Amino acid sequence: MFWLRARKQTKHLQAFIDAEYDTLSSLAQEHPLSKKLSDICELVELQIPDCFASVMMVNAKGLALDAVAVKSLPPEFTKALQDLPIADGVGACGTAAAIKQPVIVEDMLNDSRFEAFLALVEQFNLRAAWSYPVFSPTDRRLLGTFALYSTQACTPKLSEERLIERSRDLISLVIAQHQDRIERLRSEQQTASLFEHNPEAVFTLDLNGHFTSVNKACEKLVELSAQELIGQPYDIGIVEEDKALTREHFEAAKRGEPQHYQLRIFNSKGALKKLEITNMPMIVDGKIAGVHGIGKDITQQSEYEERLQILNRSVEASTNGVVISDARRPGFPIIYINPAFTAISGYEADEVIGRNCRFLQGLDTDPNTVREIASALREQREIRCTIRNYRKNGKPFWNELIISPVRDVNGEVSHFVGLQNDISERVEREAELAYNAEHDVLTGLPNRTALERFLQRSVSNNEARVYVLFIDLDGFKPVNDSLGHECGDHILVQTAQRLSSVMPKQDLLARFGGDEFVAVIQSVTRDEDVIPLARQILSQFDAPFVYDDAEVSLSAAIGIASSEIAVKNPNELIQQADVAMYEAKRRGSGTYQWFSPDLDLDTQQQITLRAQLQDAIQKNQFEVFYQPIVSRTGSIVGAEALVRWNHPERGYISPADFIPLAERTGQIVAIGTWVLEQACEDLEVLREAGVGQVSVNFSPMQFYRDDFIESVAHLLKKFQIKPNQLVAEITENVLLRDSSGALKMMEELRELGLEIALDDFGTGFASLSYLNVIPAQKLKIDRCFVQDIDSNPRNAAITRGVLTMAAELGIEVVGEGVETEAERDYLTRYACDFMQGYLFCKPLPLAELLAWLNDE
Ligand code: C2E
Ligand code: MG
Ligand code: MG
Repeated sequence: MFWLRARKQTKHLQAFIDAEYDTLSSLAQEHPLSKKLSDICELVELQIPDCFASVMMVNAKGLALDAVAVKSLPPEFTKALQDLPIADGVGACGTAAAIKQPVIVEDMLNDSRFEAFLALVEQFNLRAAWSYPVFSPTDRRLLGTFALYSTQACTPKLSEERLIERSRDLISLVIAQHQDRIERLRSEQQTASLFEHNPEAVFTLDLNGHFTSVNKACEKLVELSAQELIGQPYDIGIVEEDKALTREHFEAAKRGEPQHYQLRIFNSKGALKKLEITNMPMIVDGKIAGVHGIGKDITQQSEYEERLQILNRSVEASTNGVVISDARRPGFPIIYINPAFTAISGYEADEVIGRNCRFLQGLDTDPNTVREIASALREQREIRCTIRNYRKNGKPFWNELIISPVRDVNGEVSHFVGLQNDISERVEREAELAYNAEHDVLTGLPNRTALERFLQRSVSNNEARVYVLFIDLDGFKPVNDSLGHECGDHILVQTAQRLSSVMPKQDLLARFGGDEFVAVIQSVTRDEDVIPLARQILSQFDAPFVYDDAEVSLSAAIGIASSEIAVKNPNELIQQADVAMYEAKRRGSGTYQWFSPDLDLDTQQQITLRAQLQDAIQKNQFEVFYQPIVSRTGSIVGAEALVRWNHPERGYISPADFIPLAERTGQIVAIGTWVLEQACEDLEVLREAGVGQVSVNFSPMQFYRDDFIESVAHLLKKFQIKPNQLVAEITENVLLRDSSGALKMMEELRELGLEIALDDFGTGFASLSYLNVIPAQKLKIDRCFVQDIDSNPRNAAITRGVLTMAAELGIEVVGEGVETEAERDYLTRYACDFMQGYLFCKPLPLAELLAWLNDE
């Protein structure tokens, strides 16, 4: 019996030693917590007979217990002991956990705290339950309970109690250790995640500034592997200019001061990156062991920022007003205006932010435009319009407006941008231009364009007759020439006023050009009613015009045309009235004349020609021909520029046929200016071809232009023309009109370096005595004296006289229109210096003349 007991004891001891070994080795190893706790349970069960040990742990919420380690009790028991509320009266464990005191129940069958568990207790044939709360060793926090169940109704013996106490301490240690380990692991993993999975580049440096670790993002940024990077100095790749600053920050971090700064690097692929760096000291065991770094790639962000800044500055500096409003808020309140908006509208930002743009509108704003804008905003589409807006000071302005919707990343319209341009000046200028296009600047009367438009409308709207009165002043030109343009202008303005005063309201009075006025009469419909009006117009000239001290008496002639005579184009009525006016003039001044188709055909032709001439000037239908001037010995010394009108239907028209008319109408000024410039331009090639001098015909009309001398001087300079290369041919008639003015003009031309030649000498009334005072170097004997000079004694006598006189005065003579050898020989014999005529060469276009010169 003894040995049996002894054997049993030996076996028990062996099991205990095994269990203790298991427990200790399990504690030292990385076993799961439940295994470690079960081992402890086993150890206890081995020492206290007929008992079962279990450990329960406070679950996550801290309100209930879960059985975690049960050594010998079956799984159903463990299962039933899950989520056991921590509360006084809930079995032994719930109570022990709640009151934080051991609870010893001797007999569960007789304890009210087990009423709810009776079935379970009976199923497993248990009687006693002893439960001990388990606390954490450091802060006495409740960790769970350690309970022993016995099949006998009993209480623990003292020795058992000590064992239980020790085991409970061990359990508390194991749980605490386990929880520590879990905590440590978690924190380690957290740190690893923070490092490894951080989307920013994270790295560590040793105290020498060499990389000791880098994360994936860092590798990607620098485009080098960790292997390649580790051991490299931190400033690898940093752009030269940023190195010094980076060193300062590194040193500061090493001293324990966290740093935040920006730098630029070139990665291994050569891409420039802008980084935002954070450096922190790395502290190990209380000592700084290196430097942590986080590098944020802000390359794109700073590009955006820069772009944004440029945009911002451009909008701020724009001369267009910019308004941005919020499309998502009702009433589209303004959220931004630029300085140009303030400059245009006078409103400051604080006066308009939050308001709708409508405050810019006012009385004269076109409601249609406002409606158009509103519907564009509603439909979220762009709109361009011109709208009348009002400044803060109440003054209106024309606003050329573009409103565009701005979409966000999702394509939703978030804002509207309005571009404003104050175009008031332009609109006013256009209005002024439109006015000028229809009005004569001097008199303010409607001009020719307005006249023609009115006439067209009047003829097509009126069943009844329409009359056109062409009014032309008599003797205006001499007044204008002698008293000056200011006086002339004054008379024209006065005339416009006087005529307007007698003009019926429905009718129109226009200035047609120069001293011509045209009235379109639709207020009367019978011929006999027009006559009183015509007389009234003529009587407006009874009183003289007064200018300064001068009193000028003028009369006028009127031609009247009526729409009764059918015309294709109403404008023909003006021409008819013009023809009639000529007839009136022919019959004496101060009268009127009705147009009739049988009026002088010639007059009509002239009128047509005048209109065509105007056309020719605009379409540049003129050409310059050159006729050589030869010396007595036959060498070519110069050429005369002679204008030709290349008429689209009639071919070349001789100047003899249009120059006199152009002189009457003033059109000669434009023609003459053109010829002069063309001749100056051609002079260079002519000079190269051996023609040293070009003569140009000047009309006296050109002299009366204020800027005449100036424009000639300008041309000489422009084409670098030297003295005596250009000859001004002036007919002697000039002297008849205004001799002192003409002489002065000739002097001035002389001073500019031009030669003066008196043209057509002998045809006018200039007496030979004039030659004394005229600053001419040449005179040209007109063709009519050269003609038949060898057989016509009268012509021969005049020519000889001129030649002798000129020789006396040192003036050279050109014989014009030399057609025969006999004429040439005669002139040569009497020492005529130069000759010009078909005998030598006809006037030719420049190219042909050059070819001719070549052949000579
Ligand atoms: P003019 O200045 O006396 O020019 C000489 C005219 O005589 C030219 O006539 C010329 O073609 C013509 N002629 C030359 N040799 C002969 C000849 O042997 N026989 C005949 N029958 N005629 C000859 P054209 O070119 O018809 O010019 C006529 C007039 O028109 C010129 O007379 C001149 O007074 C004027 N004229 C021509 N061009 C201009 C110009 O550019 N400006 C101005 N203001 N007047 C011009
Ligand atoms: Mg001439
Ligand atoms: Mg001549």
